[in-house]
Amino acid sequence: RRFTVGLTGGIGSGKSVVARLFAGRGADIVDTDRIARSLTAPHGAAMPAVLAAFGDGFADAHGALDRAKMRALVFSEPDAKRRLEGILHPMIRDAVLAESLLGTGPYVIFDIPLLVESGTWKDRVDRVLVVDCPEAVQAARVVARSALPASQVQAIMAAQAPRQVRLAAADDVIDNGGELAALAPQVDRLHATYLTMAEEGVK
Ligand code: ATP
Repeated sequence: RRFTVGLTGGIGSGKSVVARLFAGRGADIVDTDRIARSLTAPHGAAMPAVLAAFGDGFADAHGALDRAKMRALVFSEPDAKRRLEGILHPMIRDAVLAESLLGTGPYVIFDIPLLVESGTWKDRVDRVLVVDCPEAVQAARVVARSALPASQVQAIMAAQAPRQVRLAAADDVIDNGGELAALAPQVDRLHATYLTMAEEGVK
């Protein structure tokens, strides 16, 4: 398999910006969120299994997952959440791995927002790269971007791994506490490291 970097970070930490910089240097990027969403989009590949498990009432008029209804169910029934994840997680994993084989770049980056939280990805990547910034900066950027109330941003952040836990899981860290312009030199340095590792087949 290809040399694989798992890119992660809290909400609004700058994963997308960093992924674009790596893509500009030739790395292949696999967006795991996009793949996860497509599986439960209208007539997505996971829909038959999800409807068989939960009932046809969980499809909306377009054949997509009724997300509001499913959110309500998994909120009140933890077992339903486990069953849903039991269906989706293996399919997400397979689709991500399949897409990762299509690229022709020197290595591949999986953009995985919940890498540290989920546990399933750590053994499937060669390096864990964390985009880091102080929580106050992170919160301010998310509020600026999304117009979510600060209280809701705090709730999302509280449900994610704390900064120190994420940093403890990192092989490499990109500091995004400063200007956007500070990212390129860090990406250049890591890209050179990953090229060497990919060539040497470092595991
Ligand atoms: P999510 O987890 O929500 O997908 P993300 O980790 O992919 O977020 P980005 O979308 O890359 O984060 O960045 C979040 C917001 O902060 C964007 O609007 C981005 O333009 C902005 N941003 C990122 N880094 C910086 C920076 N160093 N300075 C100023 N703004 C930044």
